[in-house]
Amino acid sequence: MSRKINFYAGPSTLPVDVLAELKKNIDEYQGMGLSLIETSHRSKEYDAVHNEAISLFRELLNIPEDYHVLFLGGGATLQFSMIPMNFLPAGRSCDFTLTGTWASKAYADTKKVGKVEVLFDGKDSGYTTLPESLEVHKDAAYLHITSNETIGGLQWQKWPEAGNVPIIADMSSDILSRPLPVEKFAMIYAGAQKNLGPAGVTIAIIRKDLLERCPDSLTAYLNYRTHADKNSLYNTPPVFSIYAMMHVLRWVKKQGGAEAMDRLSREKAAIIYNIIDESNGFYTCPVEEKSRSRMNIVFRLKNEDMEKTFIAEAGKRDMLGLKGHRVVGGCRASIYNSMPKEGVQQLADFMKEFARDRT
Ligand SMILES: *Cc1c(COP(=O)(O)O)cnc(C)c1O
Repeated sequence: MSRKINFYAGPSTLPVDVLAELKKNIDEYQGMGLSLIETSHRSKEYDAVHNEAISLFRELLNIPEDYHVLFLGGGATLQFSMIPMNFLPAGRSCDFTLTGTWASKAYADTKKVGKVEVLFDGKDSGYTTLPESLEVHKDAAYLHITSNETIGGLQWQKWPEAGNVPIIADMSSDILSRPLPVEKFAMIYAGAQKNLGPAGVTIAIIRKDLLERCPDSLTAYLNYRTHADKNSLYNTPPVFSIYAMMHVLRWVKKQGGAEAMDRLSREKAAIIYNIIDESNGFYTCPVEEKSRSRMNIVFRLKNEDMEKTFIAEAGKRDMLGLKGHRVVGGCRASIYNSMPKEGVQQLADFMKEFARDRT
């Protein structure tokens, strides 16, 4: 059976080498007479996996010592609640940039917990632009940004300046796709299922001093300090997701790390954007050029009928998931770290041919 090419926004494709490794170890793990996912999360075998995943993260993203790396449940979505519960004290307010669907979801949850000031709202432009600069409130508890808007196809290419105000970033859909100045952020979080592995685990990288804010009134799971104190083993972690993620991280390291992912993602995105830009308007990208995402490429054809045909024809050629999110319509190609360049080239060839046959 030939493998389909997965352009879905998530869960994403995984490297075939990683899938092979998982398959090999699912029946039996290291002579235990059990698979890893049947054993205790307190076993020495699992402990080694857990700690290797954490240390690979530290190595690949160059995470300084004064940051915790936490593995949590509940998806990036639970972070929308936990962040304000832990880091937005009563009587203070935080700053937000509304750059698309995900930032807006985080904002809606934050507003239920405390006060929020909106520094930028891309709504009027249909969420096709990012701010040039921000006037961050000096007394803001933190500034929240969404580094890559998965649905709108926008990505911050230059990090905002916030002075002494901690920056918290949702990097669910572009973490580890480029080197990061981690010290610019107080917290970075990401669900695993786009760039890091299968769904089930959420990564939170948190500067240690921020934990002083976590209120004792919070229940155990919702308090970041609980997880930091127990090395993310307070309760049963999603062991399979973390195990798979460890293999993805090993794979990224083998490819050459964040720098290699950066280079590859630039090359892959350029292949598709070039087709769009050189199509004489057959394909259009609604996002301003300087904010285009290298992970999620959003584009339109002349009309919805043509888009339907495009998506159906692509499906016949084993290319899946090219339909845009229902909120914005159109087409979208999600090309995360694990998408091979050959998959992108196949899409590019099809786009060229599809346009040629109709102009
Ligand atoms: C997918 C996504 C989320 C939601 O992640 P879950 O793990 O499904 O909760 C949040 N933010 C961004 C930017 C995303 O792409």
